[in-house]
Parts: sequence; C-alpha cells; structure tokens
Amino acid sequence: GNMDSMVNHYTSDRKRRSDDAYTPDAKSGKRPDRAVSVYCKKLREHWADVPLVIGGIEASLRRIAHYDYWSEDVHRSIVCETEADLLFFGNAERGIVELAHRLARGEAIHDIQDIRGSGFLREGVAEGWTVLDSTKLDTPGSLAKRPVNPYAMETERPCVGENTGAGKVVRMHVRRMTPDRDRTVIRLPSFEQVKSNKALYAHASRVFHLETNPGNARALVQQHGKRNVWLNPPPVPLEAGELDKLYELPYTRQPHPSYGNAKNPAWEMIRFSVNIMRGCFGGCTFCSITEHEGRIIQSRSEESIVREVETIRDTVPGFTGNISDLGGPTANMYRLKCKDPKIESSCRRLSCVYPGICSNLNTSHADLTKLYRRVRNISGIKRVFIASGLRYDIAVEDPEYVKELVTHHVGGYLKIAPEHTESGPLSKMMKPGMGTYERFRALFEKCSKEAGKEQYLIPYFISAHPGTTDEDMLQLALWLKRHNFRLDQVQAFLPTPLAIASAMYHTGKNPLRKVTKTSEDVASVKTPQQRRLHKALLRYHDPSNWPLLREALKAMGKAHLIGNGEKHLVPTWQPKSTQRGRNPKRGLPKAMNQTKSFARPARKHKPQKRKNPARV
Ligand code: SF4
Repeated sequence: GNMDSMVNHYTSDRKRRSDDAYTPDAKSGKRPDRAVSVYCKKLREHWADVPLVIGGIEASLRRIAHYDYWSEDVHRSIVCETEADLLFFGNAERGIVELAHRLARGEAIHDIQDIRGSGFLREGVAEGWTVLDSTKLDTPGSLAKRPVNPYAMETERPCVGENTGAGKVVRMHVRRMTPDRDRTVIRLPSFEQVKSNKALYAHASRVFHLETNPGNARALVQQHGKRNVWLNPPPVPLEAGELDKLYELPYTRQPHPSYGNAKNPAWEMIRFSVNIMRGCFGGCTFCSITEHEGRIIQSRSEESIVREVETIRDTVPGFTGNISDLGGPTANMYRLKCKDPKIESSCRRLSCVYPGICSNLNTSHADLTKLYRRVRNISGIKRVFIASGLRYDIAVEDPEYVKELVTHHVGGYLKIAPEHTESGPLSKMMKPGMGTYERFRALFEKCSKEAGKEQYLIPYFISAHPGTTDEDMLQLALWLKRHNFRLDQVQAFLPTPLAIASAMYHTGKNPLRKVTKTSEDVASVKTPQQRRLHKALLRYHDPSNWPLLREALKAMGKAHLIGNGEKHLVPTWQPKSTQRGRNPKRGLPKAMNQTKSFARPARKHKPQKRKNPARV
C-alpha cells in the first residue's frame, strides 16, 4: 500500500486515528495493524506453496531490523516476520517485470536472488562474494562540512612531517587490492546486536543510508538468528520514456467500483492532480522518501504530462478546469540533477542541498517553468495549482521560476516547510537555516506585489524532533509571535521505520556522523508531557495552552515572557471558557514539575482584547 499501516492508524502520540483517508467514507478500522504481516500469514495458511512476494511502503521501510515506535522496540526485518520468499523495496517496476518473466520461464523463486531492489532470507553467503564488516568500514568523517570534492569522505590533510611548502615531496603509494564492488556485501551488525546495543543500531542506520546510491551501493546482509537477511543494491532509476509508459497505462482514474458512491478522501485529493516526477535529494532525516524512492530524480517527459492533463480534462467526471497539483514528492525538483553522471554515480552524500547546495547540482528550473506555461495554456484548463511541498532553498536560486509560481500557481497561500528556526534541530533534520527562508519570503512578497496579488506564506514546523530543546521551541514560538503567525495545525515528530531521525530518537546518537560509544549524543523529546509542551509552544496563541506555558516559562526562568504586552508570549489572564479547574501541574515535564515555582497558583486576571489580530 501507500502507507505504513501503523502510521495510517495511529497519531504521533500513539492515539488511534478516528478516520482513514484510504477507506470508503473514511471509515477507520478496515485494515489490520501491521497489515503486511497479517495478510502474509493468511496467504501462507491457504497457499503455502505459492511464491509470496511483498512490497510497498510498509515492506520497503521495514526491510532490515528497525525501530518500531508503536511497540518501542526493535523489530526483525519484515522478511523474517512474513516468511516472504522475496521482498521488493523502493519503486520496483523493473524488478517485478524481471521476476514475472523468470518465474514464467520456470525458475524457482528461491533461485532468483540477483534482482536489484530485492531482499530475501538465505543461509550463509553465496560463493564468490567478499564480506566486509560494516564496523571496519565506517570512517567517513564529518558530514557537517560539505566536501569540495564530492568523492572525498575525509578531509585531505598533509602527512605527519610532510613539507607543505615549496619543497618537493616524494610520496610512496601502496597499491591495495580492492574487492569487486559488485561482488561485495557489507555485513551490518546482527538483529540481536542492534536490538541490544543502541550505538550499533545507530551505526547500522548510518551504513545503511550510505549504501543507497544505485551508482555505488553494495549489497547488505544482516544476520537474524541463524539466517541472513540479504538486500541487493537499490533499483536503477527509470528513464523518462519508461516512466511515461508507466504513467500512461490505462488507469481508470476512478475508485474501485465496489466502493459505489462512498467518498474516498485520498482519491478526492489526487483525482485532478498529476505526478510529474519521483525521488528526492533533499535528505530530510525525518522523511522516508529517500529510503524508498531514492535520491535520483526521475522525471516524466513534458509530452506525457500534457497528455495526462488532457485525459483528465476529457474523461474525469467533475473536472471543472482546475488542476489541483503538478508535482511529486517535492514540487520543484523536476529534471534537477547532478551536472555529471559520473560524479552522481560515485557520490555518497546524503543530500544534494545540505548543508548547502552542492556546486555540482544543476538548479535551473527552466524545464519546470516551461512545463507550467505549457500546461496552463492547454485548452480547457483554467488554473494549475502547485500543492506539493516547495523546496524553497533551491527555488530561490531561480527567481524566474519563483515569479512564475507566485504569479500564476498560488491559490492565495503557499505552504512551505522551514520545520524549525533554530540551528540545533535544523542540523539534525538536515534543513537549511532561516536566512534562506527570509530570502525566499522577500522574493515571494516582491513577486506577489508585482502580480497585484495578496498572498501569504504558510510555514510548517515540527515539534519534538530529536535535537530540539525546550529553549529551541521557545525561540520558535517567539519567532512565530514576532511574525504574527498563528498555526492551525502542528505536526509532532513521528519516528517512522528506517528514517535517520528515528534512529536518533531511539538511540540518542547522531548517525549523520561516525557513530561510536562516545560520539555526539542527541537528546529526544519522549515523554508525553514534554511532547505536549513542545506542541503547546507552537500554538502559543491557543488559550487552552496558556496555563501550561505559564508554568513552563516560570520553570525555564522566563517569567518575563508572561504579560499582556506585545513582547510577551502568553498573557496573564485566562478566558473563562478555558478555566476548568485545571490542575496547574498536569502536563508538565517531570523535571519541571519538581520545580518549586509551580507550587504557586496562577494569578487570575480579567480577559483583555487583543490589539493586533493575527494576520493568518
Ligand atoms: S549534486 Fe548531489 S549527487 Fe551530485 S555531487 Fe552534489 S551531492 Fe552528489
């Protein structure tokens, strides 16, 4: 399916969701938790001898031993859980077609172990393979500074005693035999080891993510008990022509007929939208798109996209001339790629845009701008909106694109995701700093003004991300207040299987750097009370959060932020409707709850009118 069943069923606070966008009439509870495992068990009961092949998001993102947020435990690879014969991870069209042909030719499923993007259980390691222990490999140095040479994984430095002046230095080179990459497998620490040792879990996560570029990734193997889970390197990305064929298969663009007239929220959302590309090179650590689709952008041809828009216009019931989105995992990575395919296939960076935009990345949005112009000029098309998330740090590199976007494709509000304002959490998310946001905001406002449009940016933020302190959240709240933003929705960090940020959350280590027992620790927000506080700081304007915020501010020594002026975060008064005999200590993080200042009851003040209503 499109979504991990646990993410689908539970909120980031592990509460059961009341609806399900993928079910007719949004009814919840129609699918089991851990659906892949449950369905596989049933299938095995009924058809034990039929080859069982799993794939989709849930299988893909649970392909090695992984932290499961809902049970707060490390789970085995889903290949073990399901006893599937084969797992396909990522976009598996190539793999599925090859498998189908080989099965049709009579090959046994257990003999098919060489398809890229597949994983399976095996005893031992096949002959002819060199096994490298991951703990001997991981000396890549810091990712904090962008290497000038993208191949470089360690800062080049002079040898001890080397003459760095004008004198000539004679170097001695030892020629080392390097094993054939295509026949090399990296052994990750076993399931039993990563389950019991958090530093090894973080190390395994780091090595796993460094082996995701299809151009240079090696096979991975991880022992589970007496058996090995083997993962072949990721699939080779599709070319435009191949992607076009996929997207132009004769889909009905309708929900299944058995759903009748029921409303299907997920379908409603996408029925007038067009997917133009896939993959993402952003590398945000809380997101699993890269682990699934990879970092290399695969884009459709302009012709194919135009044909799909025309098909929507001519065949989809209810179409009124508005395309709701022309996008993908990211709105503006269409046809963006590394300038040199050789460099791209050797690159081992986790992001092309963090900590700064790589000098090898082509950031011209010319093809996307041309596509927008062409699509909105198709006969019968009134408006084309861009609803996918915009990567504003690359958009700002192409002012002509921003002008095009702002002038023609924003429906009053443009959602963007700085995710935080403070450098601590941003560095753990691998997101750009607020300087880039300000540059984009200035350009957005200038272009909106020139177009004669009143339009607003809606920034999105995450609370409780690993590496976020109470002080970071307070600074974010003050930033929101200064900029007069009042957020309706907030996202609290949800550790999804395999994401780097989930490894930080579980282990307290930072897999963005070499992991050792003494390497950098990352604090995570884990208690419900502290998570509630971080969320409350994002919604500082909500009176129901004020009692909690007042107590927290006092505990943090920031009581001067309580008051009724512009520079204060929360007022001293409380609207009557929110005074429900609340226990003032409820909801505070334990450490704060022990602070004496909470013993004092909150002073009551009369409500006062706000002088400056919020803009958004
Ligand atoms: S653009 Fe991306 S793939 Fe190319 S060298 Fe830079 S980081 Fe690597």
